[in-house]
Order: sequence, then C-alpha cells, then structure tokens
Amino acid sequence: MKPIRTFNVTPALPPLLEPLRRIAYNLHWDWDYEAIDLFRRLDRDLWETSKHNPVLMLGTISQARLREVAEDDGFLAQMERVERQLDDYLRQPSWFRKRRSPKSPTPNGKTPAGIAPETGLTDCYAYFSAEFGLTSCLPIYSGGLGVLAGDHLKSASDLGLPLVGVGLLYQEGYFAQYLNADGWQQERYPINDFYNMPLHLERHPDGSEIRIEVDYPGRKVYARIWRVQVGTVPLYLLDTNIEPNNQYDQDITDELYGGDIDLRIHQEIMLGIGGVRMLRALGLNPTVYHMNEGHSAFLALERIRLMIEEAGLTYEEAAQVALASQVFTTHTPVPAGIDLFPSDKIIYYLGHYAEKFGLAREQFLSLGRENPGDLAAPFSMAILALKMASFVNGVSKLHGAVSRSMFATLWSALPLAEVPITSITNGVHARSCVAKSTQDLYDRYLGPAWNMAPASDPLWERVSSIPDEEFWRNHERCRSELVLFVRERLQQSLRDRGGSLIELSQTQDVLDPKVLTIGFARRFATYKRATLFMRDVERIKRIMLGLGDRFKSNHPVQFIIAGKAHPKDNPGKELIREIVHFTRDPDIRHHIVFIPNYDIHVSRMMVAGCDIWLNTPRRPREASGTSGMKAAMNGLPNLSVLDGWWDEADYVRTGWAIGHGEDYDDPEEQDEVEANDLYDLLEEEIVPLFYDRDENDIPHGWIAKMKDAIRLNLPMFNTARMVAEYAERAYFPASDRARAMISNDYAPAKDLARWHHHLFEHWYDMKIDRVDVSSDGNVQVEQEILVTAYIRLGKLTPDDIQVELYQGAIDEHGEIANGQPVVMEYVGADSDNPAMSVYQRAIAYRNSGFQGLSLRILPKHENLSSPYQPGLVLWA
Ligand SMILES: *Cc1c(COP(=O)(O)O)cnc(C)c1O
Repeated sequence: MKPIRTFNVTPALPPLLEPLRRIAYNLHWDWDYEAIDLFRRLDRDLWETSKHNPVLMLGTISQARLREVAEDDGFLAQMERVERQLDDYLRQPSWFRKRRSPKSPTPNGKTPAGIAPETGLTDCYAYFSAEFGLTSCLPIYSGGLGVLAGDHLKSASDLGLPLVGVGLLYQEGYFAQYLNADGWQQERYPINDFYNMPLHLERHPDGSEIRIEVDYPGRKVYARIWRVQVGTVPLYLLDTNIEPNNQYDQDITDELYGGDIDLRIHQEIMLGIGGVRMLRALGLNPTVYHMNEGHSAFLALERIRLMIEEAGLTYEEAAQVALASQVFTTHTPVPAGIDLFPSDKIIYYLGHYAEKFGLAREQFLSLGRENPGDLAAPFSMAILALKMASFVNGVSKLHGAVSRSMFATLWSALPLAEVPITSITNGVHARSCVAKSTQDLYDRYLGPAWNMAPASDPLWERVSSIPDEEFWRNHERCRSELVLFVRERLQQSLRDRGGSLIELSQTQDVLDPKVLTIGFARRFATYKRATLFMRDVERIKRIMLGLGDRFKSNHPVQFIIAGKAHPKDNPGKELIREIVHFTRDPDIRHHIVFIPNYDIHVSRMMVAGCDIWLNTPRRPREASGTSGMKAAMNGLPNLSVLDGWWDEADYVRTGWAIGHGEDYDDPEEQDEVEANDLYDLLEEEIVPLFYDRDENDIPHGWIAKMKDAIRLNLPMFNTARMVAEYAERAYFPASDRARAMISNDYAPAKDLARWHHHLFEHWYDMKIDRVDVSSDGNVQVEQEILVTAYIRLGKLTPDDIQVELYQGAIDEHGEIANGQPVVMEYVGADSDNPAMSVYQRAIAYRNSGFQGLSLRILPKHENLSSPYQPGLVLWA
C-alpha cells in the first residue's frame, strides 16, 4: 500500500535529556567508551537489540524509562560528562592548525598555506570511497577497504583536518551472513532504515531537501544527501532512492558491490560525478580530491568538464588543474581486483564527456588504458585514477613495490624503482579497536595521549612498567568475555536456524576461557587460505588437544574463526563449509568455532580476546591487512605469512613469521611448506611460551612479547600516523599546487598546458651529442670523475629540462641496477657551437666493482608535480 502522506517522527525527549540526541548523532560515541556506557546504562537490552544504535534506541525506548533516568542524578551527571567530553573534543587545539597555519610558509616557500587570500580558497580535502566502515549500526561497508576509510575519517577528525568524506548510502548495505545446517553461507539483506540511524538529511534553509542531478543516457537521476557526523568530519552520502527516479535508478544506491556491470557503472558515475556535484551543492570547494581505490575516478571527468564550461579552459588546461589536486590510493595487488568496463559501455554512458573535451573516441578511451594503442583493451578505473593523480600510493611498503611492477608499463622509460607510485602503510584507529579495559590500562600507565603518540614519544617506554600481573588479568578477562560472547552468538544462530536442543546444549561449553586462543577473521577469498591450518588434519588435531609429540604436558589450543565470502564466490563458501564440518569433529568440537556474520563488532571482540592473530595469505596478495594491526594494539602477537604490513613490522619481537617471504611458483608446494612451518612454530615456540608460567600462573615471556607488540606496533600501524602522513605528503602539497594553478585566473595552468604541448612537440628533436668522461675505464673508490655532456636542445631551453647522471652497479643482465640519479649543472652554450648546451658534474664511486654510468633527460617546470608526470625520459 503506498502512503498518501509520510511523516518523520522523532523521539520526544524530556528537555533535560536533550544532550542524548546530540551525543547519539555524532559518531564520536563510537570511540568514547564513557558514551557507550551511558547508552548501555540507559537500557542494556535495547542497546544490544538495536545493534548498538543509539538513535534507534532513543526512538524506541519507553517514555517511562526516559522519565525515570531524567530523575536519576547519577545518570544525568554521566550524561553531562559525556557531553562535555564531546565539546572538549570538538574544540581541542588541533595538529592541523599547528602544522599548517597561515603564517608558516610551505616547503617551497612561496604560497602561504592554509588560507590563500588571493583565491579565497581554504584547504578542504574530499575523500571519496565506495564504502565506509565506521560502526556496527551503519552497515555500508564490506570489509577492510571500508573499515580503513572509516578509520581515515576518525583520525582526520582527531587531527583536526579539514576533510570531508564522500560516498553512497546503500539501502541494503552489505549482506548479513548466516549458515544453513550444512555450513553453506546464506545471505540476508537487512534494509537500512535511514531515519533511525545516526544520519542527518541535508536541507536548504527553507527546509526542502538538497538534491543533485546526474546525467545518464536519456535521463537525469536525482539524489539526496545524508550526513554522518564523525567528530569534526562530515561524511556525505548520496541516496537515489527517491521520486521521480524510475525503479532502476532508485536502486543505484541499493546494494554495495551488487548487481551487474551496468549497475556498477551507474554506481561509479553516481559516486564520482554525483560526488563532485554534491560537494558543489553543499557549497564546498575542495583543494584535494582523494580517490580511495579506483571506484570514484570518474570524478576527474566531471571536474574537467566543469572547468571547461565555467572557466573557459581547454581540455589540456583543465586536466592540469585536476591532476595537480587529485590523489589516488590503490589497494589491490592483483589485476583481477580492478574494475574494468567494456569500451562501448564507457562510450554509451560517458561519451558526452569525450565530446565536451574535444577528444576522439580512442583518445578518450585511452584515459583508461595502459597502452593507448591497444584498442581492444577494456577501460580500467585504476588506470584512469593513475593518469589523473599527481600523488599515487600503495598501502604497505611491499604493496607499493608490487604496484610499481603492476603498473610499470605506464612509465616504461623509467627504472622500476622510480615508477612514481609510493606507499603509505595503512593503520587502524586506536580508540576504536582497543578494548575498553585495555584502554583504561593504557590511560593509567601511559597517559591519555597514547592513542596518537608517535613512535618517538618516550611514553612507549612506560609500557614495560605495567605490572605483568595486572596486564595479564586484564587480557584474561578479555578472553573470557570473548568466550561468553562466542557461546551467545552460536546459540543465537542455532536458534535462528532451528537447531536441536542437543546442538544448543553443546554450544554451552564450547571453548575454554583458559586455553591459548588463535583468531582468524577475514574475507573468505581463496588467496587468504583460511583452511591452511587444516592441511594436515591429524597434526592440527594433536596440537589442539595438547598431544603434539613434542609436548611434555597437556597444553591445548583453540581456534575462533569468522568471515564472509562474497555472495558469488562459491570457492570461498566452500572453505567456510569445510571449516564448519571440521568444527563438528567430536574430538575437537570444543576447540574450534566458526562465528557467523563477521562485522566490526565481532572483530573488536576477537582482536581483544584472542591470544594470537593468524594470517596465511598467498604472498604478495594481501595488500596490507589491517585486522592484525588491531590485534597488535590489544597486545596480540601476530602469526603470519610475511605479506602486507607484517612484512615491514618487527615480526621477530612482536610475533612469528610463517616462511621467510619467499615467492612460490607451485601453490601446492607453498601450502605444504607453509602449513608445516605453521605447525612447527606452534609446537616448538608458541605453545611452550604461552604455557610457561610462574607460580602465580603468569607467563612472563609471553607478556614480554605482548608488550613489544604494543610498544612497537601501536604507534606505527595507527591511522593517526597514517593520516598525518597523507596530510604532509599528499594533501598539503596538492593543495598548494591546486591553489597555484588557479591563481591569476588559471594563468599557471594555461602556461603549463602550453608548455606541455611545446614539450611533446619538440622532445624527440633533442639529441645527446657526446658525453666526455675525465677518466678511462679504471677508477678508484672516491676518485673524482668529471662528466661533461653536450646536448642539442633544439627548440627547448635549459629551463625546460633536467639533465641527470644515473650511476650504479652493473647487474647480471648488464644493466644498471638500483641506480642513483644526480642532477648535472648547466654550464652554458658551447663556445664553438652555440646550438650545443653543455652540462657538467663531478662524481665519484663509493663502492668498488663493476659500475655503470648513464645519462638521461627529464622535463622540468615549476608547476609540474613531478618530472615523471609527463612520462618523457630521454636516455643516452
Ligand atoms: C579490520 C576489518 C577488516 C579488515 O581486516 P583484514 O585483516 O584486512 O582482512 C575486515 N572486516 C572487518 C569487520 C574489520 O573490522
């Protein structure tokens, strides 16, 4: 039945309790345990049944209970304390203000940072992501990418960055997982009720909804805008589920990563193009556009179009401005993880951009192709993002290197090490993932600044001063709480699928709160090898039962496993079924559980209460992996293949490495070797260390490892460090570039485009005529050699280029490996031949051996974001 009218009914709070509404609508409560306590205190059952959603709670709580707490002085005092903490938080002096005040000059010393009077442009960083994982009651994320984006916003708020998030508000969100009796994953899509979630509908002053419109073939699609307030950072989400959109268009924002390829293009147009329009509709004018993965890369097209239409720029000029201010973070180490669209679909949906830009079909399509000449290649969102960003990064050091090889052909003239893709290692938001009681412990012994303190801060020395006894009791409590939580969850899921009484009673005593507990929770993609630990069933059973032949006594081990497979990933679902069947083995049924419906809440319980965090991906396919960081922050040692973040962590002091970072050609052999390594480590090191207790049952050796995990990993793999790094390395320079480019009515952008054109026209007329070296083939270490190069620049000038010597050892292929570039000095025109430019540089070799020398020319311009960006390199 369609309603003839609709109403938005809001909770009626007694005036004294109004602060509750304010607290509920700012997600700051998610990482403020006092606030969570307050809502629990308001109604413990409702807090649980609402899935930790304070807005829904306030909407459904009885008026009688509200009247009751309005007269409870203790409750009111706590509420005031929470509100004061929120106010203090929102007003705190921020890291951003200190780092980027209008007075302090930027590194290049020219434009005043922060606020630029001549353009009236204030720093504003727009962060685009297809998913955001902020808190359990906002299920608009699927996994790691989303949680990372959520943590990015939280830390941006902690640091006071002028950042805004941009995404889509999914009506169904990501699926909820349950299992049938055979252990096969089933999916349920709970409908998100936006009016009972911590969301504000953005309105004009007259009360009407702010709406945007986006062009699709033959029609316009409208969207309204919801805001999630994350501390000081707003996250704006588009929602197309409104009239007068037709049914198909209403469903564009229906489901995260659902539908077919056409729906995916519709979503990505809404995210990228709709996102840019939304920011304008809100009166925002970002200086930086950050694409978190390639889904939002169409934003570049829309920005270019706007500048062509509104500022009268040419395509080349507008592209320079867009490029200068765009940042791209790639997250996938495998080509299969990248969105690819057929060319004809790109033309069908976005051909009008090609027309506006004055680009021919193939020219336009080449924006998304690695090799512009490959007319059969599909359109890659990652390539578009790469070509449209002046700062590109992977999410761990190893993933940075993998990305450089993956995209090397885009910069085929460059040595691999210089491919301009850097890395900023992921992190997690400390206050969101450390258990409450553990945070109390840190607050008491380290002081309240631990959650954002850098590794150099002396407070980390104080981790060792936490008494082992107190430290261990706290961890044992976390483990007990986890065991209770698991039993409850299992019973709930058994009841949901009508399990028998026997099954129900069997779950009452699964797991033992005293036993060494291994946690494994992640997406069930096959490369993550969730079942690797079961490769030798008999051996792992002996280990679990404490009967491993190398043990002298009974030291058991138990596993807690969770994770969702993508709905279309049958091999992933098969792995879940295998594990569920294994958990029914009567010998070990008390030693292993699979918890259905992994989400942020399950993750928080597990990383706090397990003892070891296991990760067994096929290297190097785990770009970063962040759940291990959450575990480390709670003091858990990691036990993991050297992949992603773990490869750069101190894996000796803070855990154990499976293997030595080898790459294998034969997956069977890899599984065999690594499974055995896992069993050996458990039998010989992990289990003995865990059960090595003093007379008070305290494992001091184990605790030392836990404390190292905290001291060494917490400050490093923290989004406070990560977001500060994005700010200093990407956002500040990109803002300065963007501001410079648009000053004087875009004069620098026009100049750069003109220069670009000139450069491409004359680049290949340049000739390296002769290189003279002041020595024959034999030199000694540290002996100075003078190199003189004679170059015909043709129509280019010494201002347009940078001449570099490139020196390093010769490898087995006769090539210079890991060469170092040094800039040569322009000496002047050759006196005999004025068309010849002379460059000189004295060099010396620091190492002996077979060393090589080469020479190359790169473009140079003051507004160029990097000399590699035009993709031109001339080698001698
Ligand atoms: C942290 C987190 C992830 C990401 O963990 P990985 O180690 O990258 O697999 C996925 N899902 C949830 C719910 C998380 O909290």
